Amino acid sequence: MLFVADTLFVTINYISDKRIMQQSLKQDGQQLKRSFDVALTMTLNNMSQLSTFIASSTEVQHLFAQGVQAVKEEGGGAGGPESARLRDLLYDSVSPGWTKMMEKYQVRQLHFHLGPGSTSFLRIHKPQKFGDNMDNLRHMVVDVNRDGHPRQGFELGRVYSGLRGIVPVFSDSDSTRQIGALEVGTSFKTLIDLLGSSIGGDVAVLLNEANVENATWSRPNEPESRTPCGCFIEATSSPALSALLAERASTKWSKPPKSVRTILVNTASGPVALTEFALSDYVGERDGSETPVGRIMIWKSASDVIQELNHNTWINIIYGVVGFLIIELALFLGIRLALGQLKQTVDERTQEIQVLNRQLEEIAHQDMLTGVSSRRYFMMRFQQELNRNQRSKQPMTLLMVDVDHFKRVNDTWGHQVGDQVLSDLGHLMIENSRNYDVVGRYGGEEFCLLLPGVDAVTGLQMAEKLRERVERQIIIPSSDGIHVTISIGVALYAEGQSAEEWINAADQALYKAKDSGRNRCLLAETAD
Ligand code: GH3
Ligand code: MG
Ligand code: MG
Repeated sequence: MLFVADTLFVTINYISDKRIMQQSLKQDGQQLKRSFDVALTMTLNNMSQLSTFIASSTEVQHLFAQGVQAVKEEGGGAGGPESARLRDLLYDSVSPGWTKMMEKYQVRQLHFHLGPGSTSFLRIHKPQKFGDNMDNLRHMVVDVNRDGHPRQGFELGRVYSGLRGIVPVFSDSDSTRQIGALEVGTSFKTLIDLLGSSIGGDVAVLLNEANVENATWSRPNEPESRTPCGCFIEATSSPALSALLAERASTKWSKPPKSVRTILVNTASGPVALTEFALSDYVGERDGSETPVGRIMIWKSASDVIQELNHNTWINIIYGVVGFLIIELALFLGIRLALGQLKQTVDERTQEIQVLNRQLEEIAHQDMLTGVSSRRYFMMRFQQELNRNQRSKQPMTLLMVDVDHFKRVNDTWGHQVGDQVLSDLGHLMIENSRNYDVVGRYGGEEFCLLLPGVDAVTGLQMAEKLRERVERQIIIPSSDGIHVTISIGVALYAEGQSAEEWINAADQALYKAKDSGRNRCLLAETAD
């Protein structure tokens, strides 16, 4: 029972430590998401600033405006030779800064779009490809071309998904006339490498394959990009992701949470705290879509956290064991104390019971009216004394006491007064007897007194003392001072006598005492 309670104590502590650990993991996860959000916003702001900077150049505006016009005149799409000429001029104008932008801001895309919708006019990062329509892909560009408001965000792309800042480009001659849009973009790779090193962990961007298939030409067919989660690895700061994903697949692969979820995953290189949250793209955010396009995974080693938990668990176990021993000891001492007290109580109760038993025995052996022994008990004790005398050979004397004219007492003052006289006499005889004397009620108003160790002379003296005392002290109630008298027959035990013979001897002496006038004591004649 105690062990169970103790185990419970350790378990509860373990659970509470585990809860604290989970809470700390959760807080870490939330902090990681905030770091990611900040890094993402900063990246997007950089892209927007760069695009604003380029789009504000009058040279760029001039060349792009001319190019837009040329494409229009040469049938749209890729346009014709004039369009190509102006495209080259625009490229020459922007490309010197492009290298710098790639180096300094990790820019990967710089793209001029014609409106309405989105038709590629010039990709600085890939100048040989142009004229393609992207109305259904480049939603941010389509929206910027429609209302002239700059936008930034994450959008799935054909080669890689981009973090983009898109601004409208206005005509150099008429600053209110929008001629197209300029897009500056970077990849997640840049962001997560920077983020990973600053948070001391690793980051990956996983996209739902279905979304990627809709937006790309061929990427999901690359086998190395396919994962057990049905995700496309857009970017990862560590190649360890594939191992992590394999481990992660053993737990429930649910939809990424809108907020943050941090779980512990056991990997070959130790426990890992894995934080996941949903990633939405521009369209999803614009349209308030509930379904994210992918998820961000951030993971860090959790060895220290687990070590802490294990350490605390050990401490709990030690506390638990010590607590267990203390309680055991307390219980042991408590039981001993309780047992000691119990023993004392039992002893006391035993003594009480013994006293009660003795009293009960006495009551059972007592004559109710007079308080002396019942005839039955007297006879038993009488026999015992006789037996004892066989060895001790001590003298012993028997007194046979009878109330004089007791019938008259009853007749004159009533039976109750008679009872009272018998009671007074019985108690007086007890008072005057020694501890080892045996006083018994032999018949109605006849009493026997057995005096062990008493010879005939002493016995007669004791009888006389008793007689004298009765005469003096016992007065018949409501009798106007009439004294009660007794007659006593005294018989010394003669060796070899039977009980009856001895009693008979005393009885004979009594009879003689009565006969010779009552209120007297008479010694039985010896046989010899
Ligand atoms: P004696 O002097 O010759 O002994 O005369 P006595 O009247 O004492 O003797 P007797 O044997 O004639 O009478 C004894 C009476 O004692 C008879 C009986 O009614 C009475 N007696 C016996 N037991 C009890 C008792 O328990 N209570 C009362 N009140 N009377 C009793
Ligand atoms: Mg009598
Ligand atoms: Mg009598």
